[in-house]
Amino acid sequence: MKKNDENQNNDSGMTRRVYKKASLDDTVVNVRKDPSDDFDLLSDDGMMDYVPGVDDVDHFDFDEKDIEHYRKVNEQEAAERDRRRKQRALEKQRAAQKQQCETKKSDEQPQGKRQNKQAAKAAADEVPVKKTNTKKKKRRRRKDEETDIDDIELRRELSEKKRTNKEIMRITYVMMLLFFGMIGYFIYFDGVTSKEVINNPHNSRLAKMADSVVRGEILSADGEVLAESIKDDNGNYYRYYPYGCTFAHVVGTSDVNKSGVELTADYNLITSDIQPVEKIINEIRGQKNPADNVVTTLNANLQQVAHDTLGDREGAVVAIEPSTGKVLAMISKPDYDPNSLVDNYQDIISDENSKVLLNQSTQGLFVPGSIFKMVTSLAYLRSGGDPDNYSYYCDGSISLQSDSGDSYIKCYDGEEHGQVDLLESFAESCNASFANLGLSISVDKMNEVANSLLFNQTLPTKFTTAKSQFSLSNTDSQWQIGATAIGQGNTVISPIHAAMLVSAIANGGTLMKPYVIDSVQSTEGSVIEQYESENYGTLMSASESSQLTKMMKAVVEEGTGYKLSGKNYSVAGKTGTAEVVGRGNNAWFVGFAPADDPKIAICVLVEDAGTASSEAVPIAGEILDAYLNN
Ligand SMILES: [Zn+2]
Repeated sequence: MKKNDENQNNDSGMTRRVYKKASLDDTVVNVRKDPSDDFDLLSDDGMMDYVPGVDDVDHFDFDEKDIEHYRKVNEQEAAERDRRRKQRALEKQRAAQKQQCETKKSDEQPQGKRQNKQAAKAAADEVPVKKTNTKKKKRRRRKDEETDIDDIELRRELSEKKRTNKEIMRITYVMMLLFFGMIGYFIYFDGVTSKEVINNPHNSRLAKMADSVVRGEILSADGEVLAESIKDDNGNYYRYYPYGCTFAHVVGTSDVNKSGVELTADYNLITSDIQPVEKIINEIRGQKNPADNVVTTLNANLQQVAHDTLGDREGAVVAIEPSTGKVLAMISKPDYDPNSLVDNYQDIISDENSKVLLNQSTQGLFVPGSIFKMVTSLAYLRSGGDPDNYSYYCDGSISLQSDSGDSYIKCYDGEEHGQVDLLESFAESCNASFANLGLSISVDKMNEVANSLLFNQTLPTKFTTAKSQFSLSNTDSQWQIGATAIGQGNTVISPIHAAMLVSAIANGGTLMKPYVIDSVQSTEGSVIEQYESENYGTLMSASESSQLTKMMKAVVEEGTGYKLSGKNYSVAGKTGTAEVVGRGNNAWFVGFAPADDPKIAICVLVEDAGTASSEAVPIAGEILDAYLNN
């Protein structure tokens, strides 16, 4: 319609435009002058012909005369439009009446030849009149058709415009999505992935980076150098480990079998963050830039004591600060001298059974024996068991049905513990009592508790660890359930996991994630990265941890860990002597001290050993002394 109007009257269209430019801004003027004076801003189809910007309006300067003039013009137009509308309506009405009359006439026509002839004659008489009507009709129809065509074209045009707009918007959205996605990826890549990608040993960029710098030092928490780069007589740098095998697995090596901190912090150890000016000066001089140093959480003295005390025996030691998760010491035996690993590497890997390169603290899995009684006790508590009302009479063994008839589970050395409650069963490590206790707990509950204590899953650490395993099925025999309850069965655990469990008990049930790298510093001493301790969550409630602590204190005060009593600090712990097929026992001690204000949680494992109290407990004592009496 709008298009039609403009076609019909270009001049008035022009006038209207100017007028509307004025009226849009001047509606204020309008209202002020006479609120009832309603300017017609819209064309017939109710659409605004022209919508000017405010700047446009500023160019027009209208006075009262102009407004009066435009009002008159507008009124004339309105009157004209009104007149045409009325005329069209009248024409329509006439046409409708006419049609009605014709329909009536044809309905009233009589049947028969004579009547038909008459009608034909009458019709012939009427031809001139009819002709006039037909012409008018045709004109009107043509006009209507033209209007319709215009309408259709306009609609088509609009719908095409809409479609095009939609497509443009769709493309815009897609482009925006891609753009923001790309920005997001760059941020993620820069913040998270880039280091992982660069730190990937297969990345050739690492080798180039390593060549351009002097590899940084690895330091203990107390500032001892654990790994450094030294220039030889030919001007080439080589890696030197001042402590030899003491830190072998935890610090690792870089020239061959890249492992430990050397692997985890590889990127930092080949990235130099010294002042740019210094960098340029070094480059001009043809000197390599010194890469950043990595400061660990390790206590050099504690590590040395743990290493020396374990001596030539195979096994592992892990010490953690319970309130932070800082790893204070980590030993794995057998070990190697990282200074000569390059020379001995082929010999070591040619022996398939060699455990020399394996960090047993994190990667080794061992039968836990009686240290697992901590888990069984927790399952008993969570099954609604009352720790103060448990009672059992131990005659040195318990007979249980196995897949091959009745079998016995014996207490160590067949010792008869007599009437015992839960505390005594735990402190004396009574196997018969704990097998009995295990049978009172549902298999589902045992699985649930073991899983809640991180069995069968990846441990929350920044270094890789083996998954501890626990499984018990409803089809298992009574003997199997009893054996599992005392830490035999199919259960295996890593020393780091055992240390984490006692660390959580020491910390009121909350586990802090263990970590070894404390910070990264430039050689000029500025801190590049500082790692904070991270809370993993609660492994048990405060009351559960309190109950277990009470039982673990009894182990030292009156049970199998008595060798740790009488010190100037109290110890809470649990011993374990696990039978291993084909070799000596796994002797364990796990615990923390001081019992009421824990500063250190430890796990000591001696493989191919006698009993826990004779071999693991004394080592634990020396380590605790070294840390708490220093
Ligand atoms: Zn017993």
